[in-house]
Amino acid sequence: NDAFECFLADENATVAIGKKLSQAINEGAVIFLHGDLGAGKTTLTRGVVQGFGHTGNVKSPTYTLVEPYELTNQHVYHFDLYRLADPEELEFMGIRDYFENNSVCLIEWPEKGAGMLAQADLEITMEYIDSARKVTISANTDNGQKIINKLNN
Ligand code: ADP
Ligand code: MG
Repeated sequence: NDAFECFLADENATVAIGKKLSQAINEGAVIFLHGDLGAGKTTLTRGVVQGFGHTGNVKSPTYTLVEPYELTNQHVYHFDLYRLADPEELEFMGIRDYFENNSVCLIEWPEKGAGMLAQADLEITMEYIDSARKVTISANTDNGQKIINKLNN
């Protein structure tokens, strides 16, 4: 299984990779986002959400856990589980429903929701390279691998 790796010189490059990723998805995807605070997880998510046609802001759903973007051609759900105290809360919010109907789910701090999330098609890791960033995307499923193959073409 090939991974996709890219150096991201600035914020615009991070948004651009998110847009490229949105174009490579065609049957929905569950995407886990790893990386320290400020590494660029929300910035990359903004690129994905805007790539699917959202024109407004993309703010981190820190207090609400999920921000829905129900766009014309694709439902996108952005989760940030940083402040999640107990994975059981995800059961109460009906998290299972978000993973249905070929939605795109982007999940920051997925380890906080261990046991309650769908299997990730893609795992994205953002790292600091001085003041720039590096992104690594790897696949756990056939759907994820198809997406990576498109990114590498
Ligand atoms: P996270 O969600 O991982 O906590 P954010 O996306 O909220 O991170 O914040 C990332 C910060 O880093 C933002 O201030 C953004 O402008 C900046 N940033 C994003 N990508 C890059 C990049 N490739 N190089 C330098 N700065 C970046
Ligand atoms: Mg964030």
